[in-house]
Amino acid sequence: MLIYNSPRGTSDYYGEDIKYIDFITDTAKNIFKIYNYKEIITPHFEHTEVFTRSIGENSEIVQKEMFTFPDKKGRSLTLRPEGTASVVRAIVEHKLYGENLPLKLFYIGDMFRYERPQKGRMREFRQVGIEAIGSDGPSIDAEVIWMINNFFKNLGFKNLLLYVNSIGCRECREKYIEILEDYLKPFGKDLCHDCVNRLDKNTLRVFDCKTSGCKKILENAPKISNYLCRKCEIHLRKVFGLLKVLDIPYVHAENLVRGFDYYTRTIFEVISTDIDSAQNALGGGGRYDNLIEEFGGPKISSIGFATGLERTMLLMKDLDIDIEEPGKNQKKIYVINMSADFDEYLFGILKFFRQNKIICDTNFNIKNVSKEIKWAQAQGYSHIVVIGENEVDTNKLIIKDLDNYTQTELNWINEKSRLLKLLR
Ligand SMILES: [Zn+2]
Ligand SMILES: [Zn+2]
Repeated sequence: MLIYNSPRGTSDYYGEDIKYIDFITDTAKNIFKIYNYKEIITPHFEHTEVFTRSIGENSEIVQKEMFTFPDKKGRSLTLRPEGTASVVRAIVEHKLYGENLPLKLFYIGDMFRYERPQKGRMREFRQVGIEAIGSDGPSIDAEVIWMINNFFKNLGFKNLLLYVNSIGCRECREKYIEILEDYLKPFGKDLCHDCVNRLDKNTLRVFDCKTSGCKKILENAPKISNYLCRKCEIHLRKVFGLLKVLDIPYVHAENLVRGFDYYTRTIFEVISTDIDSAQNALGGGGRYDNLIEEFGGPKISSIGFATGLERTMLLMKDLDIDIEEPGKNQKKIYVINMSADFDEYLFGILKFFRQNKIICDTNFNIKNVSKEIKWAQAQGYSHIVVIGENEVDTNKLIIKDLDNYTQTELNWINEKSRLLKLLR
């Protein structure tokens, strides 16, 4: 018999993991709604250009990591590697930018990147993200950072630190890149192969390099913060000022760059200082001032954020963050049926419980009663009822409370309100 495995880089989630996934998505939805964000759902695949144009032809994602395929009519489609491009495409297509900007949207969904799978990095993964469309001021940047900080706090992360930087606007960034290239070029072969390539196409990405040689060279590299134009400088200072008002701990991370070409000005990462490794970023985001226009929309500025759902789950487990399971104290009743002859009577009882929104289940296979009771206890049921000949004849039920081993006998037809009171 052939048994299939899930494709490389994908996972099945069940049991305990579902509790975490539900908790993370519920926490996200709750906090985002408090800040007046509304959900948007976009397709899992788009025309390939949606990503090549926005993320950038020379980015790692577009060059190496996209699942791109022709459909039956030869059109090039791509499974979305991130959320922002699709959201922007949808906003422009449906002209969602009305008069009341910023338009605040959040999404939760699957993303796909053809990467070498490792812990917390899969080919199919879920992202939670937000986009605030249509405000160019620093106050929306600060509000986004504030909300994201609260999101991770509400998940149970304790010691958070915000890395914030500005990568400038089109003008000052281009000037800075020239200065950076002038600094790096004389090092020539001392730079790693990747960085030599980056120097041609995507110079800022040298700051992502992990090799010690390049890191050393970059220590003394000119920093963009010294080359920001006046407007960009004022913008960044204002963000810092508002973070101070909010008591959000942050550092000006002058070497922070992020993987998308479309970012301008403010970029940020949320760090957990409880994680003792370079992989301590919980998520990140940034401002993109030109993307909507590049997609054929008006010239409006925006800022977004995204985090990996499974990665967040793994970090929560690593840090022993317990989650409050919703409905943990809700009563759950297990109805043990002793014979298939009583099925009709049993279904009457199950129907009553479920109409009254009481969580219940039954044994669909007839087994030994004491084994069933043990199993129900292990599964966290709070009460059991056994259906035997006596119950069917008299409509009497004996409700056993598994927490304190008390039991109540009642006629479930005549004493429905008493029964419900017991189980609520
Ligand atoms: Zn600037
Ligand atoms: Zn390098």
